[in-house]
Amino acid sequence: MIRARLHAPYRDDARYPAAIVNVTNHCNLSCRHCFVFREANPNQAPAKLADELSDDEILDTLRALRDRHGIVSMLWMGGEPLLKPDLLRRGTRLFARNTITTNGTLPLLDLGPEILYVVSLDGPEDLNDAIRGRGTFRRVLRNLERRPAAFSSSVQVQAVVTKRNQTRLEELVEAVRAAGVGWMTFSFYVPRAGDHGPDAWTDNDERVAAVAEVMRLRERHDGFVRNSRRSLELLLPGEAERVTAACPARALILPLYLEGDHFTTPFCCYGNDVDCDRCGAWVVFHLAARAEGTRAAK
Ligand code: SF4
Ligand code: SF4
Repeated sequence: MIRARLHAPYRDDARYPAAIVNVTNHCNLSCRHCFVFREANPNQAPAKLADELSDDEILDTLRALRDRHGIVSMLWMGGEPLLKPDLLRRGTRLFARNTITTNGTLPLLDLGPEILYVVSLDGPEDLNDAIRGRGTFRRVLRNLERRPAAFSSSVQVQAVVTKRNQTRLEELVEAVRAAGVGWMTFSFYVPRAGDHGPDAWTDNDERVAAVAEVMRLRERHDGFVRNSRRSLELLLPGEAERVTAACPARALILPLYLEGDHFTTPFCCYGNDVDCDRCGAWVVFHLAARAEGTRAAK
């Protein structure tokens, strides 16, 4: 039984090469900028993890959606997906490619070399902990450093660049490198509609310095900061609005949020209440750059 209700523009008869699934609305952190727990998004969590959809119900639904939509890549998220280790063990066998996003505070499961963990950090220690809670930064790095030597799944860090942390990104890069993490990428803050708080740039002109800083880090930490050059160029004014006006993530990725006894599709993988004009999501610009490369190769 498919426990999912797809809302326009998502369609029962469409092909989606990728999907994002929120496997629990529970999390062991409560970050200030969490898009899962934004007010306008599906995010109600019953008191106990066990009262959400069961692992079997989730897996039956995902298997059926995979077959119906041709889903090849699954991105597992929450809440915190590592709160459901058995589900991840079984679920990652259903898809050809699997990425698990985690806050990195719980022990990572070794699910084999085909699995990629994306660990979230938001800046150097003081800025990260102001958002994610005191002690979180060290806890995550300790957890990553203590992976067993034989740990076979790949691990990268992804950090959200904001107006607040944009001048302190190199401190973060150096700390992550020192922890022995494979590589990192930067995503740029996705504001809510009307968000003019301290993390949000007024417009994409104001974001240019932050993009330029990531371009500089990419050159300086070659091979470690892995945003592609073209994906960063596309974040610049003029290009960015063109990309987000025809958002490739919305066209290619089926977002599945957990709501009561079923999954539901929000406006996009960032939820319902987003400002596309100022979106800087890594996935959007990565897909746009890749599509250009594919077109050029044809
Ligand atoms: S770790 Fe992720 S899901 Fe949990 S509160 Fe923070 S941003 Fe939200
Ligand atoms: S907020 Fe970003 S990811 Fe969502 S639809 Fe708009 S451009 Fe796409």
